[in-house]
Amino acid sequence: MQLACLDLEGVLVPEIWIEFAKRTNIPELSRTTRDEPDYDRLMQGRLAILAQHKLGLPDIQKVIAEMGPLSGAREFLDWLRERFQVVILSDTFYEFAMPLMQQLGYPALLCHKLEVDAGGVVRNYVLRQPEAKRESVKAFRTLNFKTIAAGDSYNDTAMLAEADAGILFRPPQNVIDEFPQYPVTRSYEELAAAFEAASRSI
Ligand SMILES: [Mg+2]
Repeated sequence: MQLACLDLEGVLVPEIWIEFAKRTNIPELSRTTRDEPDYDRLMQGRLAILAQHKLGLPDIQKVIAEMGPLSGAREFLDWLRERFQVVILSDTFYEFAMPLMQQLGYPALLCHKLEVDAGGVVRNYVLRQPEAKRESVKAFRTLNFKTIAAGDSYNDTAMLAEADAGILFRPPQNVIDEFPQYPVTRSYEELAAAFEAASRSI
């Protein structure tokens, strides 16, 4: 049995915080772990900025819904789901991803969650587990699945290493240089072909 594990942001949908920062014209929200390596400080900072701008979850979800998936993502995902069981492994939050999941036909998604109060204010976040992408792939092995994982960035490389086969999709040059063992794909056609090749090789 083969399971396809897909990263979400940068593979099927835009980078949510970066796109959100653009659409709301709040550039501070485009900070990433490259700017603030302490993830908890980064997230608490983001939540404080949202509160300061009085952006509750419904406002946030409305902006995210308008982003839409990347062009061709839905067709690629449908293609993949006909051939593999597909699980999306992401470090985003269900509350943010749901407007986009609706547009992708609600595929299985394993990610983290937010704590939101009755007034819609995002109070905190809850990580499902540390190293969630890698731990998920590891757990699938105990269920007798072989996994083919695809992602676009540094935070996917532990998942790719844990999987039986790994594929990079539109990665930055530093990831290509550091992880030359993974095929690099730049279109959904290439990504589909890489899944087919991986499926034959594992
Ligand atoms: Mg990504």
